[in-house]
Amino acid sequence: MKNPFEKMPTVLTADELIDKAFRRAEKAASALTPKGGPRAKARQREELRIRTVSNVIRDNLRKLLDRTPGVSELPAFYRELVDTLVDRDQFHRSLARVNWAIKTIRNLEQRYVEKIRYSRDPDEIARLRRSFYGRAADVIKDIAEDLEYLNQARNVLKDLPVVDLELPTVVIAGHPNVGKSTLLRALTNAKPEVASYPFTTKGINVGQFEEHYLKYQVIDTPGLLDRPLSERNEVERQAILALKHLGKVIVYIFDPSEYCGYPIEEQTHLFEEIHREFGEFPFIVVLNKVDIADEEKIKAVEEFVRSKGIEPLRISALNGEGLDELKERVIKLVKPMVEEQAKRIMEKELRKYREEL
Ligand code: GDP
Repeated sequence: MKNPFEKMPTVLTADELIDKAFRRAEKAASALTPKGGPRAKARQREELRIRTVSNVIRDNLRKLLDRTPGVSELPAFYRELVDTLVDRDQFHRSLARVNWAIKTIRNLEQRYVEKIRYSRDPDEIARLRRSFYGRAADVIKDIAEDLEYLNQARNVLKDLPVVDLELPTVVIAGHPNVGKSTLLRALTNAKPEVASYPFTTKGINVGQFEEHYLKYQVIDTPGLLDRPLSERNEVERQAILALKHLGKVIVYIFDPSEYCGYPIEEQTHLFEEIHREFGEFPFIVVLNKVDIADEEKIKAVEEFVRSKGIEPLRISALNGEGLDELKERVIKLVKPMVEEQAKRIMEKELRKYREEL
């Protein structure tokens, strides 16, 4: 799935929109060669101006509405992220007011064009058109704050991460420098894509691998699942919890060599927090950097992990040790979900096919 706000256009300010509409109307009017007497000419010119102003404004605002999804209709992952970034009520209220502006401009257009058609005096026709301009501008000024708000929202929302919500996903967690991105690169053959993600300047890394024609997605979240949740503010926590809608399996990485800079004690503490928070997911725990770690420390971590009822796995993301087994464990856990998903997709396709027959 793409970022649902990818197509949301830049939102013009009220002044820019009014300006654009009036300029287009002047251009259209000057390109027109009206026919008939002075009254008929005035009618044609002013009607064209009114219609052009109305069209430009409505097209612009309509495009904004058409390309902006409502927050409530989004998949849960995006919905929760959006809620951390914008005020959902205000966002919807602003969209509703844009809709109101479209309708109001359309009404004004119809009323003024009608008045012009009944008017016999070229001066009055020009006056009516000016009056329409004033009222149309007032409507747009009325929604000036909404347009500004929507533009601010757009600037944040267009940076939502692009992840495939359909694919079963492995989320990697662990302190910085334990080897998360090295592992992601080792597991997924494609060069991981970096997708932006609110609250982490580094973005999230997304990679995929394929096994027996089924695809899996691996996500590394620098800055997110690498320090205690208790140190996070409310908004950050929510951004982290949104990951729950992606994760099917959590791969938690320990670095028993402690070269990452975090003593084992701190690592076990972080593990406990994340394990508690993401308790509903299956966890795979790996001990990375076994190529350089002391056997004693490895054993200490293993003991801790076993005390949590999980059988740890020794790996080296750098030289590839243990990675085949890690993949196997991931697949074993995720495969039933993948097959379920594949079945659903196939049934959908079949239904479509049958309907077409
Ligand atoms: P991240 O911050 O958790 O993504 O950690 P990185 O993947 O950037 O790894 C941090 C450092 O550890 C890098 O210098 C890696 O080369 C190194 N590293 C990662 N995995 C291993 C490993 O299995 N063995 C060794 N010796 N070094 C590793």
